[in-house]
Amino acid sequence: MASATDLQPATGPSQAHVAVIGFGIAGAMAALALHRAGARVTVFEQFHAGHDLGASGGPSRMFRMLYHEGQHYVPLLLRSRRLWSHVEALAGQPLFLGGGALTIGQLDDPWLREMLVCAQNYDLPHEILTRDEALTRYPFHRIAPGDVALLDPCGGIVLVKETLRAIRDHLLHQGVQMVEGGPVTDLCTGAESITVMQGGKAEGFDRVLVATGPWLRRLLPTLPLRIVKVASSFHAVTAGAADSFRLPPTQWVSESRSVMACQPMPDGASVKFFLRGGFCPVEENAAEHCTVPFASGKRGDHSGAGPVPDSIPRDAEAALPQVLTGVEPRAQSAFAYYDGMTPDTIPLIGPVSSEPGLHVLAGYSLHGFKLAPALGEIAAAGVMGTGGDSLSQRFSPGRFMP
Ligand SMILES: Cc1cc2nc3c(=O)[nH]c(=O)nc-3n(C[C@H](O)[C@H](O)[C@H](O)COP(=O)(O)OP(=O)(O)OC[C@H]3O[C@@H](n4cnc5c(N)ncnc54)[C@H](O)[C@@H]3O)c2cc1C
Repeated sequence: MASATDLQPATGPSQAHVAVIGFGIAGAMAALALHRAGARVTVFEQFHAGHDLGASGGPSRMFRMLYHEGQHYVPLLLRSRRLWSHVEALAGQPLFLGGGALTIGQLDDPWLREMLVCAQNYDLPHEILTRDEALTRYPFHRIAPGDVALLDPCGGIVLVKETLRAIRDHLLHQGVQMVEGGPVTDLCTGAESITVMQGGKAEGFDRVLVATGPWLRRLLPTLPLRIVKVASSFHAVTAGAADSFRLPPTQWVSESRSVMACQPMPDGASVKFFLRGGFCPVEENAAEHCTVPFASGKRGDHSGAGPVPDSIPRDAEAALPQVLTGVEPRAQSAFAYYDGMTPDTIPLIGPVSSEPGLHVLAGYSLHGFKLAPALGEIAAAGVMGTGGDSLSQRFSPGRFMP
């Protein structure tokens, strides 16, 4: 494990007082980076760290280094991978479960081609396995004739709740103030400071970073963010396969496959699946401002964003046997989570123009969890006035502002 020394705060004569609003993965990583950059940080979270109602809900997220979303993300993924190790050092437990990630499809598929461009341009390790080679190595997969499997050895799974709790504990230990259990209801920008309204109280800050995920438009209604709701179903490993079951997180790129991705759960007893048809209708209230609470379908610790349509577990039952053996086609449970999508699926990071000191970090668009450590650093640099390079231009909310 890496040492946590890189996460020690810089010291300086004057500290900017910064409010971070929202403690999903975006706000958590940004708070960590701001603290490290020497800011005096106060975090506001409407629920509690590691809750299950936001876009960072559920047990795990997939990490991929070979990135079909664009090779320009690779430096950020490399930086994020390093920072995940630092957070592991803080946590004192593994948070990144390596072992690789698999992508299955035709070799000339545009996603696979882009992933291979990443591998070539950044000299990243990778293996292209023929169907037979892949079936020998991963005997629980079913692979269509003509498909190959691209192994990304730097891929893996990141644990969600453990990461958020570790960051929270570290920040509290470092004296960072965490205000949990009630939403920030308003922000008032003045000449000298920005006033944050929460729980009937008002507090002034030098700068504010809004990282409220799918709730973004409640505080910043002019930014373009579409809310989506995505369901996943959980399936038990069969008794017959339990002793030998081994599976890297896998994505299927062909549109003709109903299954889009799967992740083995850390306990090895079940697998999480996403179907291509796993996008649920979004309720009107969520589409407006993601009104809370969502928890109408609350079940145990996995409450997510409310009810899942019956079609999701039913479709999973039909689709799973086409891609995998060793798991029960019938779902144990199914959960849905909201996320905020930008029009170009590129996150929004930077100052909200016309509002001095007000910054945004949101729009992770269903792929930002793995990138959160590096994106948090970019946001922190912007807030502290040390950013402004071409990378931060790419994420600027200004691209959607007249
Ligand atoms: C089902 C699903 C699967 C995904 N899979 C992957 C994957 O495998 N790999 C990957 O890299 N990415 C993945 N993503 C994307 C990634 O998980 C999300 O984009 C990311 O977690 C968003 O984090 P966030 O902090 O922006 O939002 P959130 O996690 O929603 O955090 C926002 C926080 O702000 C708080 N908040 C909101 N309003 C207020 C307020 N007014 N006052 C105080 N607090 C407030 C909320 O309570 C919440 O805690 C997936 C997303 C989903 C939904």
